[in-house]
Formats: sequence, C-alpha cells, structure tokens
Amino acid sequence: MSRGSDLLHAQPVEVGPAMMALIAELFPIGRSITGDGLRQTLSILRRSIPLAIHEVPSGTPVLDWTVPPEWNVRDAHVANSCGERVIDIRESTLHLVGYSEPVRARLSLAELRPHLHTLPDHPDWIPYRTSYYSAGWGFCLRHRDYLALPDDEYEVVIDSSLTDGYLSYGELYLAGEETDEVLLTAHACHPSLANDNLSGIAVLASLARALQSAPRRLSYRILFIPGTIGAITWLARNRDRVARIRHGLVLAGVGDRGAKSYKKSRRGDTAIDRAVCHVLRTGGAAHRILDFSPYGYDERQFCSPGFDLPVGRFSRSEHGTYPEYHTSADDMSFVSATSLADSYATLVAVLSMLEGDAAFVNQCPYGEPQLGRRGLYGGTGEERMARLWVLNQSDGQHSLLDIAERSGLAFAAIREAATALAEAGLLAPVA
Ligand code: ZN
Repeated sequence: MSRGSDLLHAQPVEVGPAMMALIAELFPIGRSITGDGLRQTLSILRRSIPLAIHEVPSGTPVLDWTVPPEWNVRDAHVANSCGERVIDIRESTLHLVGYSEPVRARLSLAELRPHLHTLPDHPDWIPYRTSYYSAGWGFCLRHRDYLALPDDEYEVVIDSSLTDGYLSYGELYLAGEETDEVLLTAHACHPSLANDNLSGIAVLASLARALQSAPRRLSYRILFIPGTIGAITWLARNRDRVARIRHGLVLAGVGDRGAKSYKKSRRGDTAIDRAVCHVLRTGGAAHRILDFSPYGYDERQFCSPGFDLPVGRFSRSEHGTYPEYHTSADDMSFVSATSLADSYATLVAVLSMLEGDAAFVNQCPYGEPQLGRRGLYGGTGEERMARLWVLNQSDGQHSLLDIAERSGLAFAAIREAATALAEAGLLAPVA
C-alpha cells in the first residue's frame, strides 16, 4: 500500500536546479532527428541513467515512413566579400535550417535572400526551421541583421553531410512486479531551445532516476526519441509489445512559467487521463485540460487509430501558443527551476497514483464498522470522510481512483485511509 510513496521522497526543490544544470549543458548541442548531436545528448543522459542507445540504419522502412539519411554538420556560415562571417552556426545552432544539404557557393544578396528566414515581428529573435523531408538549404537570422545586409557577394558554406547512417534513440526499461507498462517519452531532436524539448528531457531524466531506485508495481519504458520519426520507428520495432502499455505520457514544454496543461488521449477516459485530471484538479493551481486532437507532439503517433494507446500529453504552455515557440527566445531565461520542479512534482503525484491504485473489499459491510473502537474515528474531518468513503465504496468494483473521483477528495487521502483500514483488518485487497 505504500507503493509509489517512495517516489515522493525525491524533493522537487532539489531537482529544480539539477534540471536547469542539465538543460544548460545540453543547450549548445546541435541536435536533429539523426546525427552526432542527438547521440551526444543521449550519452550525456547515460551518465546518470542506464539508457540503451539504439541505432536504426537509414533506409529502414518504419510503418509508412523510411528512416532518413543521417545528417551531420561541421561548419555553416555566410561570409561577406571581406571574409567576415555575417551568419555563423558557431554563434547559434538555430542559424542553420535543419537538414540543410551541403553547399559551397558565391551568391549575390538577391540570390541569397530566398534562403534566409527571419521573424519581422520579433526582429531580435532567430527562428528555428527544418527541412527534414525535402531537399534544400537555408539560414535563419535576426530580422534586424537581415535588414543590415548590404549588397555584396556572399560566400555560403554548409559543410554538412547527408549519408547512410543511423537514427539514434535512447530507451530505459525498468521492470516492476507486474508486466503492465507505463510509457514515458520526450522528444530529443531540437537544437538550442530550452523549453521545447530540453525541459521534457530534463524532467524525464529526473523521473527515470527516481523510478530506478523506487519500489515499482508497474514496469516503466522511458524513451528519448527524435520527434515523429523516432516515435514511428519505435512503434514499428515494438508492435508486439505495445499491448503491455497501460498508461503513457508524452512530456513536452514543461519548463516555462505558464500554467500546467494536459491533453487527453484519443480515448479520453483511460486511467492516465483520469489520474492526471485528478492531480491537476485537486492541486489547487490554474491548469488547462484539453481534448485530444490529431496534432501536437508524439501523442499523434501513439494515438494513431491502429495503436490507440492510452497516452496523453503533459505540458505547460502549449506549443505554438507563445511567441517564443521555435525561436531563439526559447532560451535558458524562458525556463525556470520552479516550473521544472512543479512539473516534476505533478508527474510524481500522477505516477504515485498509478502505482498506488487498487481495489478492496470491505470486510464488515453490514452497517458501518465501529471506527472509534479501532482508533479510526479521530483525525481531521477529511481523514474521517476519506475512511467512510473508502469503506462505503470498497465492494471490489471501485478502485481508489474511482473513490477519489467520486468523493472529490485527494487520492493521497483516500490511499492513506485505505492503508489504515486494511491494517485494522477492515479491508482486504482484491486479488
Ligand atoms: Zn518543436
């Protein structure tokens, strides 16, 4: 009955700064959906969690897709006729459009312009762009710098390679007493963006560390994967295993200062949907609960109709709704240790709930048992109400989560009541 509670011992106040430090370390790395930046990110994570790193060859058919060529970049810049670098990937990984093909050319400003991307509404921010599945190249820069480019002959250098290589992803499986699995994923393919992807990586890595040393009823499968193609690749390679997934969460954008949000699974009424909604509703803080839609992060793949897995998405501000999204303004100052710790604590509460959920049978169901005689009528009003609710509803058909929802009491109070009642012999677990 105390299962899951060990997770709670990891103090979110301590994990906040540790997560910020991990984000700061990963921030400068030029990640993409394949390549050495992704690999380097996974090997940094492997210092503290025993990730298996899988390498899937380019060209491998995965569901309706194909693993793309591996992309790596050694240098990318635009230099003016004096040889000065006016755009330089060494200043920000965002300057180069992801998956740009190799280029060495001398171009006039007019010829260069179609390859330049800016944000006129935010002239000091660099946009983040990719060109994964169509050949091309480009640079992203501050609109202010773009306007200042004089007519000149520019030298464009993109020393990149698109070759037969591998798609890398990290997987950690933690066996529990039961083979039922909880799937937890974060995408790991964005370059220097703090909230969109690094915050999810940091919170998931902290959860993985806590889960490793906690007693586990459920088994856990934790994935650090490139967005879309990584989820599709994992699903293609694990089709026969997905039936074990009982609950799942995609973590994305969990470090900004906005309110927490939860996007329900396609089914909308699974245990993970109910657990996250319960934690958010009883948590007392502002939050948003969103119905499923076939857009967003990797929940799109896990909730495609052929799989239809019980996987929701936990975020703070939703992608695309804040101006900093996919720009250089999603930097270290856009995320906070407090928000990361709050996201972490919320997820720990959700996982503790999944771990601790169970159904019982009242062993004294004819009339109320005399609680006073057993020392169980004291405590706060909430504690008494929780015991009465658990006794009344424990007919073997209602789980503790059902009782928490029906009573409106916090799951932790319901579980504590069940523990006390079971110790007094008034409840027996359903086998
Ligand atoms: Zn993104």
